[in-house]
Amino acid sequence: MYARMIPLAIRRLEGYTPGEQPAPGERVVKLNTNENPFPPSPRVIEALRNIDPELLRRYPNPTADMFRAAAAKMLGVSMDMIIAGNGSDDILSIAARTFLTKGHMLACPEPTYSLYPVLAAIVGARCVGVPWEEGWQLPVAGLLRLRPRAIFLANPNAPTGTFVPPESIEKLASAFRGVVLVDEAYVDFADADCVKLVSRYENVVVCRTLSKSYSLAGLRFGYAVAQPAVIREMMKIKDSYNCDAISIVLATAAIEDQEYARRTWQHIRSERARLAGELAAMGWQVLPSQANFLLAGPPDGDGRRVYLGLKERGILVRYFDKPGLRNKVRITIGTTEQNNALLEGIRRLDAALPAQASTPAK
Ligand code: PMP
Repeated sequence: MYARMIPLAIRRLEGYTPGEQPAPGERVVKLNTNENPFPPSPRVIEALRNIDPELLRRYPNPTADMFRAAAAKMLGVSMDMIIAGNGSDDILSIAARTFLTKGHMLACPEPTYSLYPVLAAIVGARCVGVPWEEGWQLPVAGLLRLRPRAIFLANPNAPTGTFVPPESIEKLASAFRGVVLVDEAYVDFADADCVKLVSRYENVVVCRTLSKSYSLAGLRFGYAVAQPAVIREMMKIKDSYNCDAISIVLATAAIEDQEYARRTWQHIRSERARLAGELAAMGWQVLPSQANFLLAGPPDGDGRRVYLGLKERGILVRYFDKPGLRNKVRITIGTTEQNNALLEGIRRLDAALPAQASTPAK
């Protein structure tokens, strides 16, 4: 009966696994899902307090125009180049449904955000991974060789935090006829971005989120930037009211307070440098990161041990039980206090290790 009810492709699908979320009130140092450790802008809190109940009675504006106007102003593009969504996961899902269909191939450098293959599978497409080149460079030739319908890449990448210069992405976009979607979920912590490419290339779509750089992961708000004709197609695919009335008001308040957000980015960037230095000094291998997290491996190459040991001490980091990632953990950059707690937790774990296990792995 089940077989007739649910298509084989869906039964075979392994869904996306989100990071653990402790119960409200549980006291943990939460460095596992790349949230911003600082609260949202005071302007967001004020806007929340001033929500008029009438806003809830009525349907929201279907295209979140208030947000689109503010985002367009911030980015120096026109409003018809923006589509808003219920988190950037919604935007990615809209993108997969707009650009791919049954039998198509999506190509991604790998490892990358594990939602992409799930989104491809849902529309009957397959996702093929191409390993990053030496030094985490973009595998331009490898991606093109596959002749896919679309290419999705995260920049900075997840879960590595590594960054490729916009010039490499431009090289890819100019040599490719399909869509190049650049997932810029972490770009506000990086040195450059790809929005400029959107005006020059009709096949470039950039997507962003307010979850990390604007401290609004719980709000669920993301957006994409692309040429107006592409946005028009994506608008047909989205749910009619994919952003709720409250989220539109709060997301707008958040991006209008650039000064506040920038201060959090600066703090996170300086803590990122400090944490990377401290971990390296303890013999860890740390990937160069331009995101708000570090992918780093302990000297004994046992990521699981670190993940479980820290968890026991009330510190959550992310462990990926996947080839190439088992010797590392992904650590979100927290406040100075949280990062100190993490370093202290690691020192205590190291102290509990038998002497021979702490010699650096080759
Ligand atoms: N893209 C990447 C690369 C991510 O790591 C995440 C966070 N899981 C997202 C998109 C989704 O973010 P959100 O749906 O919260 O906007």
